[in-house]
Amino acid sequence: MVGTKIAMVGTPCQIMAASKVQHYTKAPIDFKIGLFCMENFSYSYFQELLKQYNLTMAEIEKFRIEKGFAFLSLKSGKKMKIPLATAKTVVRKNCNVCVELTSETSDISVGSIGSDTGWSTLIVRTEKGKRVIDGAIEKGFLKSKELKPSQLKLLERIAFNKAKTNYENIELRESKSRPVLYQRKKTDKGVMAENSVSDFTDLRANVINVGSCVLCGACEYVCPEKMIIIDDTKPRKKRGKCPEDCHLCFSVCPRTFIPESLRNDMSKKVGEYKKILTVKSLKHNEGQDGVVVTTILDYLISNNIVSDALVIDKKENSPWKPVAILTKDIDEIVKASGTKYSVCPIFKALKPLDEDVI
Ligand SMILES: Cc1cc2nc3c(=O)[nH]c(=O)nc-3n(C[C@H](O)[C@H](O)[C@H](O)COP(=O)(O)OP(=O)(O)OC[C@H]3O[C@@H](n4cnc5c(N)ncnc54)[C@H](O)[C@@H]3O)c2cc1C
Ligand code: SF4
Ligand code: SF4
Ligand code: SF4
Repeated sequence: MVGTKIAMVGTPCQIMAASKVQHYTKAPIDFKIGLFCMENFSYSYFQELLKQYNLTMAEIEKFRIEKGFAFLSLKSGKKMKIPLATAKTVVRKNCNVCVELTSETSDISVGSIGSDTGWSTLIVRTEKGKRVIDGAIEKGFLKSKELKPSQLKLLERIAFNKAKTNYENIELRESKSRPVLYQRKKTDKGVMAENSVSDFTDLRANVINVGSCVLCGACEYVCPEKMIIIDDTKPRKKRGKCPEDCHLCFSVCPRTFIPESLRNDMSKKVGEYKKILTVKSLKHNEGQDGVVVTTILDYLISNNIVSDALVIDKKENSPWKPVAILTKDIDEIVKASGTKYSVCPIFKALKPLDEDVI
């Protein structure tokens, strides 16, 4: 058996948080599956929006966003679509200053853009990612095809356009408010210097109170004093003084300064990679696109490559409300398949770090 080794799934901002947690601590995150992500929605505002269509979350079987619409498959069998421009009115503010589409700091990235219906586009980025994907194909978990040049061009164009639009939003926001820190290009020495004088007060002023917090929960996870509380809206700090030499919450936040090795390279529209494929599960059929994420997690757990998977399931009594779970159970991973289009403090499902891993 392996010791604790976690494979996690996340949006680009959550994966950046995980990469920073790996950079600054010895947390047992071992394999990162990044999703493509254009935007994310506020759960409560989305509920309000549905009221305009006389709908509730409980009536929805499946969400999918493509070609300018949010498509809703209802439990009644009916299908509906909401123009994306309308849905965008309930996009979280932080997504407007997010320049990454494809989770560039992951081991592998998965999304639907570029692939045919029922298939997923898979970007293999690291040696570890390559070993896992080669193994999963060889052992009959996945089947794959080359991505055609026209499909890759489409993905690159959409990634470039997201970055371009949101760089413009960053400029606009910076003209009225504080700098968007994660876009400030500093040397590693400069990043360390900033981190060494920053704590939760700086996180609150520069990230949380200016609409840049992605609600990932990484700050709460790493706090050695358990001073941070994160609920559905934003992280808060309990009363009390932080130790002078602690800067961890500020350091791991995906919206503060980024170390050089993790920074996006805009000249590479979908980041560094080893290969790009279009893939489909040969084991599971209930999921969002090619059911590739679920199948890779199944492969990783059933071959003892990792011990646990960190995934996003739905809350029992609140339809479509995402909840993070850490599990070894393949049935639970399968149950968590499918996209939930709202945020969730994913790191909440991890046990607080102990002293040995800080
Ligand atoms: C908010 C959001 C926006 C997205 N936007 C795009 C997009 O614009 N273009 C695109 O091509 N793809 C997008 N995706 C990815 C896409 O929806 C699929 O997740 C991806 O193609 C994988 O499909 P699959 O069938 O392999 O996944 P499945 O096998 O169905 O597994 C999906 C996995 O996603 C995880 N998950 C579900 N909801 C969340 C969440 N809110 N946060 C973190 N993890 C979650 C689950 O834990 C599950 O393990 C988005 C995903 C999310 C969560
Ligand atoms: S900030 Fe928003 S758009 Fe960017 S990765 Fe996170 S959820 Fe997606
Ligand atoms: S103890 Fe450290 S991690 Fe916790 S709130 Fe204070 S500075 Fe942040
Ligand atoms: S403030 Fe905390 S929850 Fe918000 S983005 Fe930063 S690390 Fe994540």
